[in-house]
Amino acid sequence: MTVLFRPALFILFAFFLLSACKPGDRPQEKRTRFLMGTLVEISIPGPATARTEEASNLAFAEMARLEQMMSTHRPDSELSRVNDNAGGSFTPVSPELIEVVRRGLEWGERSQGALAMSLGPVVDLWHFDGESGPPPAGESLAQALTRVDESGIEIREQEIRLKRPGMKLDLGAIAKGFAVDRAIGVLASRGVKNALVNAGGDLSVLGRPSAEKAWRVGLQHPRKPEALVAAFDAEGIAVATSGDYQRYFLHEDVRYHHLLVPATGLPSRKLISATLVAKNAADADALATAVFVLGREKGLELIESLKNVEGMVIDASGEVGFSTGFKKLPGFEFRGYP
Ligand code: ADP
Ligand code: MG
Repeated sequence: MTVLFRPALFILFAFFLLSACKPGDRPQEKRTRFLMGTLVEISIPGPATARTEEASNLAFAEMARLEQMMSTHRPDSELSRVNDNAGGSFTPVSPELIEVVRRGLEWGERSQGALAMSLGPVVDLWHFDGESGPPPAGESLAQALTRVDESGIEIREQEIRLKRPGMKLDLGAIAKGFAVDRAIGVLASRGVKNALVNAGGDLSVLGRPSAEKAWRVGLQHPRKPEALVAAFDAEGIAVATSGDYQRYFLHEDVRYHHLLVPATGLPSRKLISATLVAKNAADADALATAVFVLGREKGLELIESLKNVEGMVIDASGEVGFSTGFKKLPGFEFRGYP
């Protein structure tokens, strides 16, 4: 039997990522929209005003615009046009799409191929957002893998081309983080000083919720959605988590999740969760996926080689690993695992 765990489920869980307000907290304006396959929440401390309402509406609108540009689920997105033209001509695209692809290529290189946006043909075979299981047959997987090739992504100033027919880009590992950064940018440009943008666990902050305390981030237990593994204060940072519990199905009691090893097209089995802290959400998002695929040793090695990046990983045997600075995050608290 195959059981699909739908996004609706994770959305509820995502609420637990942030610890609840305590009595005495200042009032918070909290708005949510369903965007990029998840529930996006924008919180602004203090009473709601016309100005903060307009700012959050504009921030949501910016995320919706980016989704319309970068989604593979929308046949009329810029990304879909690039994919439809694979093997053919260059497609003119927006600067934001170029930026995301460039950054994805860079993280792909720095992670020795753990991140691969050209994995689209393989991602499609898994049907993680529709009907699910059984896992794709070896033959179709092998066929799709021949079309996975980061070196086949050609970028010019305002256009992109995929060299070979059948190639397909999927920006699922990085676009959400990028959109969170842009939402934060819109809020800041509208004079908002303190805010939190949380897209299902990929989040970034402005300022703090009150003079006394910073935004508090709790990391969800990968197997007990109501429990937290760790918590810390977020100030001037972004956080992203990739986990095998976010999008998966069970087939004959085996868990098949959506974080794939580019070389094999199969779910990466080394970790069950990777949480990354970085200066912006796009990097945190891309790195969370890359580190998840790399596993504990190589993942932490990559994190240690980067400035202003910290990480926490939980491996399949239940071991928790931290980068040197993770436990030094302000207000860090480890609740324990398992
Ligand atoms: P989520 O979308 O749940 O936050 P991620 O940011 O880790 O999770 O992105 C996972 C998505 O990225 C998958 O759903 C798939 O579309 C794509 N993907 C999966 N494996 C890889 C990979 N190794 N490199 C690049 N993209 C990947
Ligand atoms: Mg990611």
